[in-house]
Amino acid sequence: FTLVDPLTGPGKGVKFSDVAGLSEAKQEVMEFVDYLKRPEHYKALGAKVPKGALLLGPPGCGKTLLAKAIATEANVPFLSMAGSEFIEMIGGLGAARVRDLFKEARKRAPCIIYIDEIDAVGRKRSGESGGPTGASGESEQTLNQLLVEMDGMASKENIIMLASTNRADILDRALLRPGRFDRHILIDLPNLIERKQIFEQHLKGIALEYGPSHYSHNLAYLTPGFSGADIANVCNESALHAARFKQTQVNKSNLDYAVERLVGGTEKRNHALS
Ligand code: ATP
Repeated sequence: FTLVDPLTGPGKGVKFSDVAGLSEAKQEVMEFVDYLKRPEHYKALGAKVPKGALLLGPPGCGKTLLAKAIATEANVPFLSMAGSEFIEMIGGLGAARVRDLFKEARKRAPCIIYIDEIDAVGRKRSGESGGPTGASGESEQTLNQLLVEMDGMASKENIIMLASTNRADILDRALLRPGRFDRHILIDLPNLIERKQIFEQHLKGIALEYGPSHYSHNLAYLTPGFSGADIANVCNESALHAARFKQTQVNKSNLDYAVERLVGGTEKRNHALS
């Protein structure tokens, strides 16, 4: 797994202000930040803070970004692992990785554990009714270990578990029970206003002919269905295009070119998904 220490790690610095839009989601996760900063206050009041939350939504819309921002804002370590990394393991190694992850988290608490693409490990087990996508023996063991670790985690340990998925429908229901990932936060594709904000965020780092706000409104109109990752891509692609022509600044035609290129890509992708 990857560990990002808030003081020394490479992910240092993703703040709430770097996450454009998603105001409702940010509002919801503020409680975790506050809890990690002053757990004793919650305990004194007898309040039980949720152990974990599931971030739901399509790829590239800021789930990982938001999870990292929670760690930065609360100034705690961020331990992350992709669900797919667990299931690549064979011979009981997946379950051992889960144990290691929680062991490390206990050492570093207060901290955040983030499991990206939890659906890779958290598919419905074969015993559960609900579908042809039953988990294999190996990932079943891994999932069981995950459930055991979550249940064994006392609230006094100050560990917040976050996980992301874009396939909540295939998750084993045991993961969603109270005391596990019982809180769900939707991180959806950005709307027009949010796309404008994300463009402004990413255009800040580009050497533009005019300021970001000169372009952002128009770009937001041209890009319905784009995720935050697509928008970041457009901005970078426009700079690459400008570099190719030895320009010293990125202009409207570079941005138009990048949108055009990415529109083709997202159309193909959405078609393939539908
Ligand atoms: P996946 O499910 O594919 O892991 P994700 O939802 O976790 O996707 P992120 O990794 O958070 O997506 O986003 C990918 C990149 O897209 C970010 O590093 C960032 O550059 C950009 N991005 C996505 N959403 C936003 C946003 N709301 N504000 C600013 N940038 C964003």
